[in-house]
Amino acid sequence: MGKIVPIGNIAIVVHGGAGPDSDFLLQHLPEYEKGLSLAVDAGYKILKKGGSAIDAVEAAVRVLEDDKHFNAGRGAAITAAGNVEMCTSIMDGQTKKAGAAAIVTNVRNPISFAKALMDDEILMYVGGEEAYETAKDLGLKTEPDSYFVTDHQWEEFEKERSKKPAQRGPAFEKYMKRKHGTVGAVALDSRGNLAAGTSTGGTVFAQPGRIGDSSMIGVGTFADNKTAAVSCTGDGEYLITEVMAYNIAATVEHTGCTIQEAMDRVIHKKNKDKKGDLGAIGIDSKGNIGIAFNSEQMARAWRTPDDSGIEIYR
Ligand code: ASP
Repeated sequence: MGKIVPIGNIAIVVHGGAGPDSDFLLQHLPEYEKGLSLAVDAGYKILKKGGSAIDAVEAAVRVLEDDKHFNAGRGAAITAAGNVEMCTSIMDGQTKKAGAAAIVTNVRNPISFAKALMDDEILMYVGGEEAYETAKDLGLKTEPDSYFVTDHQWEEFEKERSKKPAQRGPAFEKYMKRKHGTVGAVALDSRGNLAAGTSTGGTVFAQPGRIGDSSMIGVGTFADNKTAAVSCTGDGEYLITEVMAYNIAATVEHTGCTIQEAMDRVIHKKNKDKKGDLGAIGIDSKGNIGIAFNSEQMARAWRTPDDSGIEIYR
């Protein structure tokens, strides 16, 4: 039997994407809540045993990637070319090491690919066809295209495909108006280490090759033991120009405020006029939890030794 580690200020928060409300979400609320609950518990179990924040984040995100209701891994959005292209990133706040991959195809658990890249001595961030080859070389489990494509995402793809190009709007805005989703997790372990991870299928009917924020360190994901761990979701094109995850952590660092105050400042004040969806979860180095979003919904769950919860709407 292993040594029993005293539980410090452990905490985990997971999200299943910030975005518009939808009939699919409304019809499957129990399944979404179950997925969030399984994810947060998978991470918490590791933290409770004295495991690391980075392992807890990976475990939680894997549960959501395997759950077909969430837009990551199985159930990822389908591009305009009819295929699935995923983006992911992970960061360890203790070592400041990170791994990330964009336009990932056929890798069953992209977050584990990001973690393998974090541990790799040569590559940190890879994309496209080479991402698949690299994942295979690193021993990641792969699946055929049919594993990723769900009936729901195929219907979403067909709905977009049936529209005339003019109905899809101007180039930049068209992504903003489409359905999207992402999953992510942040954790604090009993040794005071923070970690964050994010994984996504991106935007429905996206142009093949589009890369959102989720694979970008400092935008979709950031972790630093000195400040905070943050995972973002929403319209990638806006999150990128706001350097969202680092922006929130830097606000904690430079003002000494809590993670919740930093999120309120960056999402609700600084970006109050943004037309796109913005959402984030985070934990600061003192163990405070932060959750903020400007969208109609953001599926999320959290757990600490004293508190737990699952919420989807405001
Ligand atoms: N941020 C993701 C992207 O733009 C989508 C999302 O979080 O809903 O690819």
